[in-house]
Amino acid sequence: MANFDDTLQRARLAFSSGKTRNVSFRRKQLENLLRCYEEHENEIISALEADLRRPKQESLIVETEFMKNDIRHILFQLDEWVQSEKPPKSFVNMMDDVQIYNDPFGVVLVIGAWNYPLQLLLVPVASAIAAGNCVVIKPSEIAANCAKFIADVIPKYLDNDCYPVVCGGPSETAELLNQRFDYIFYTGSTRVGKIIHAAANKYLTPTTLELGGKSPCYIDKSVDMRTAVKRILWGKLINCGQTCIAPDYILCSKEVQEKFIVEAKDVLKEWYGENIQSSPDLSRVINANNFQRLLGLMKSGRVAVGGNYDASERFIEPTILVDVKETDPIMEEEIFGPILPIFNVESAYDAIKFINAREKPLVIYVFSNSNKLVKEFRRSTTSGGFSSNETIMHCGVDVLPFGGVGMSGMGRYHGKYGFETFTHKKSCLGKDLSPLGEKLSSARYPPYSDRKGSLLSFLLRKRRPLPNLHLSHVLAIGLGVGLTVLTNYYLQKSSTD
Ligand code: NAD
Repeated sequence: MANFDDTLQRARLAFSSGKTRNVSFRRKQLENLLRCYEEHENEIISALEADLRRPKQESLIVETEFMKNDIRHILFQLDEWVQSEKPPKSFVNMMDDVQIYNDPFGVVLVIGAWNYPLQLLLVPVASAIAAGNCVVIKPSEIAANCAKFIADVIPKYLDNDCYPVVCGGPSETAELLNQRFDYIFYTGSTRVGKIIHAAANKYLTPTTLELGGKSPCYIDKSVDMRTAVKRILWGKLINCGQTCIAPDYILCSKEVQEKFIVEAKDVLKEWYGENIQSSPDLSRVINANNFQRLLGLMKSGRVAVGGNYDASERFIEPTILVDVKETDPIMEEEIFGPILPIFNVESAYDAIKFINAREKPLVIYVFSNSNKLVKEFRRSTTSGGFSSNETIMHCGVDVLPFGGVGMSGMGRYHGKYGFETFTHKKSCLGKDLSPLGEKLSSARYPPYSDRKGSLLSFLLRKRRPLPNLHLSHVLAIGLGVGLTVLTNYYLQKSSTD
């Protein structure tokens, strides 16, 4: 059984030494990480190919370029993000220093999943570094080649005390979770998410859970079907459907279904040729367990497109199923593979009702030319994200937060939201000990009286924020003088009452 005491002890000592509070130190670590991605791009692509038979183009877009751009974004914005915020002050705090200080949590744990084994681990790691934390980095053991790359190469670029890599499966992770962390960031299934959440409860450790679930895709008859089919199939088939935000199933009428199937057959031929298995552009299922699980799901409904498979390569042909029932396993569990069931609904209203009767999805996709209908979907449903006439791409918009809601997760990251996830917003009030300030606030002290009470109510009453700093300074001085006179009057009067 692994023992993580030493690793944690070194990380805690490193955090208490204060080195990660230094912004130049954080910047240097992030630059090193960026250099690591640049210098080892080919190795990363090879590891992804070995684990998932991932085509190079997909690896570039969704892992290496994504991770590089994420770090570039952080490096551009870091000096601004680390600044304390100075929120508009109320009247009563006009003379005080009111600020929100960005504090790192301390030693945080980031646990990655196998489907995007580098990006899902190292993007939150970069955010945690940017925010000034020490980070224990735990790759998924299931993508074994990528886990090996992370364990062998990342420590050559990052400070080893502050950012240790630990490897292992469920038992090692369970052991790791016995340690006390200041924050846990987990990506993976909802089932394991519950285990992580329960473990975090022991020390009330704050947690982000990036989970999965079934993300529906509604199509109406107003769409340009060719474009809709391409965008939906690309979202379904990238990484062989093993994407948390892949459109899980389609909701549409029978009429739309027929057109979808005709176009889908044509698009698949255009992309992968007559013999899909020989195409280099389709990844494979990660392992035999998932392969068998997917074959079980293919038994639901009727195959309208595809349906072939080859266990020796863990190949499953892109498959569209029709005539599925709500109670079929394929409509109950997350698919996470290249199988797309179509469930028929009569109207958009029925689709909304269907979605709202289930767990809140990670994302809802709507394909329609009607802005009114898109708005209606957005307004009437709850999900981690929402995208109209597109799939997957919302995840790449770095100014948007990414995360689930309800059973699809809690918390968010990407860009500034990642920095904020790993930052404790410390409320800071600074006063001086001047006689004027003391006089102004002395009505709070016993012995209490009605007069003191009404003076306090007057001082504390919420007022519209003052328009600008210069005016507020002038007003503060004027009010300070006025209130001192008033306070003196009240206090003298109450002592003579
Ligand atoms: P996985 O098996 O790689 O597990 C994720 C992590 O949890 C791994 O590091 C693993 O070691 C650890 N783990 C597994 N079992 C554990 C246990 N019993 N106790 C403690 N730790 C354990 O990945 P997975 O869970 O199969 O990932 C697929 C799921 O992740 C899908 O549901 C998918 O939708 C979801 N996912 C979500 C996102 C997101 O950003 N929301 C991204 C990718 C995947």
